[in-house]
Amino acid sequence: MSITTPGGRPRVVVVGGGLAGLSAGLEAADRGAEVTLLERRPRLGGATWSFERHGVWFDNGQHVFMRCCTAYRAFLERIGSAGGVFMQSRLDVPVLAPGGPLGSIRRTGGPAPLHLAPALLTYPHLSLRQRMAVLRAGLAMRKLDPDDPSLDDTAFGDWLSAHGQDRTATETFWNLIVLPTVNVGAADASLKLAAKVFVTGLLTEAAGADIGWSRVPLSALHADAARRALEAAGGRVSTRVPVTAVRSGASGGLEVRTDGQTLEADAVVVAVPHDAVGALLPPGTVAFQDRLHELGTSPIVNVHLVYDRPVTDLAFFAGVGTDAQFVFDRTDGAGLDDGRQCLAVSLSAAESYIGRPAADLVSHFTAELARLLPAAAGATVTESIVTREHSATFLGAPGTDSLRAGAECGLPGVYLAGAWSDTGWPATMEGAVRSGTRAGRLAVAHASGSADA
Ligand SMILES: Cc1cc2nc3c(=O)[nH]c(=O)nc-3n(C[C@H](O)[C@H](O)[C@H](O)COP(=O)(O)OP(=O)(O)OC[C@H]3O[C@@H](n4cnc5c(N)ncnc54)[C@H](O)[C@@H]3O)c2cc1C
Repeated sequence: MSITTPGGRPRVVVVGGGLAGLSAGLEAADRGAEVTLLERRPRLGGATWSFERHGVWFDNGQHVFMRCCTAYRAFLERIGSAGGVFMQSRLDVPVLAPGGPLGSIRRTGGPAPLHLAPALLTYPHLSLRQRMAVLRAGLAMRKLDPDDPSLDDTAFGDWLSAHGQDRTATETFWNLIVLPTVNVGAADASLKLAAKVFVTGLLTEAAGADIGWSRVPLSALHADAARRALEAAGGRVSTRVPVTAVRSGASGGLEVRTDGQTLEADAVVVAVPHDAVGALLPPGTVAFQDRLHELGTSPIVNVHLVYDRPVTDLAFFAGVGTDAQFVFDRTDGAGLDDGRQCLAVSLSAAESYIGRPAADLVSHFTAELARLLPAAAGATVTESIVTREHSATFLGAPGTDSLRAGAECGLPGVYLAGAWSDTGWPATMEGAVRSGTRAGRLAVAHASGSADA
């Protein structure tokens, strides 16, 4: 039975104000629903947010996307934020080693997969033999089907070994792509997730892996803009409202319970992290509902260093032979225009860093950057901060694929969304937006009694 508002619009409640929930809310509103979005925190944006300290803006962690992230890029367009990001016209990742040559993973203007061949054949951090082996493995990877569930039985490291990749190739090439995208080291990552990144990003469309990132604080890019867009589309947004349960309602619709009230809805999108879903829904509603915690978590740490002067011209770079995995120039996003430079050292799969005192991490990475950037050795760090996200993503290890739930669940009218859900992607902004958009569409179709899915 469809319960609608007096104006005839179906009522959709979205639980969770991360990228998945915001996308779901916008999709539902754009399809004519009356949307109410409930977020338990005081702010929107979920795993993407920013804060100001001493007049400098810091993100909770550097976020990047690729040109192949079409849903995320459409979301930015929809909320009016496309101008807030920079995108490379051609993939070019500078790779620095202490005292070593400047390498680069860059593409030519040619078609995939040949677009990467010149860069790989001249990549200075590998021997000629290793480069040829990487090329052969890349061609073998192109034959993998990222939608094949059996790939999730295998660790990417085992596949790499079977395809002639040694430790140096893993650390100085494969990890540069797998660590930041899957948030697990190449050795331990699921082959299925690694294949998704390589096949969709690097090996199908030549431009697919061109990299983009925000030029403004993430909260401005996502939360503020999405809230404006959702409210302009007639949606209501309430923060500091933890949802406690989603249940069938007496009148045939659904009830969304919070501490203080119960909302009636025709359809509900539950867009909360995997370890929060189970408690909101009746037992047995979601496949593996009591095992979702087995998706695990993987941390990300960022060490933000503000130098008293510019220390690099590079917008970003990867490091090899150093603990600094990726370093981004955040000066514009930080709002600095006084001659100082803000760098963010982004550390994925950061188990070994998450518990270390901030002062240790700042001094360690100040020294690491001095080894990579001669100008940093003579500069002074005027401001520093460490951001830690203990549960940045689920752990993209073998065996996790079957735990990722689809949009539909056992409670009719309730749809699941989130980067953790069955998107085929690692836990990314793209996966979050894809799942949210789909769930929003399904919710409106259900609420309006349409067969559209
Ligand atoms: C430091 C860091 C760096 C990252 N880097 C990248 C990157 O470079 N590229 C990339 O693509 N991805 C990156 N990611 C991953 C990406 O940010 C996430 O996958 C994505 O933002 C998750 O969105 P989501 O909406 O699925 O979940 P979340 O963002 O977790 O949103 C879920 C929301 O639900 C809310 N909630 C939970 N329980 C309730 C409740 N009971 N009631 C109401 N609300 C509730 C939460 O407060 C939260 O706001 C990174 C993540 C981190 C933390």
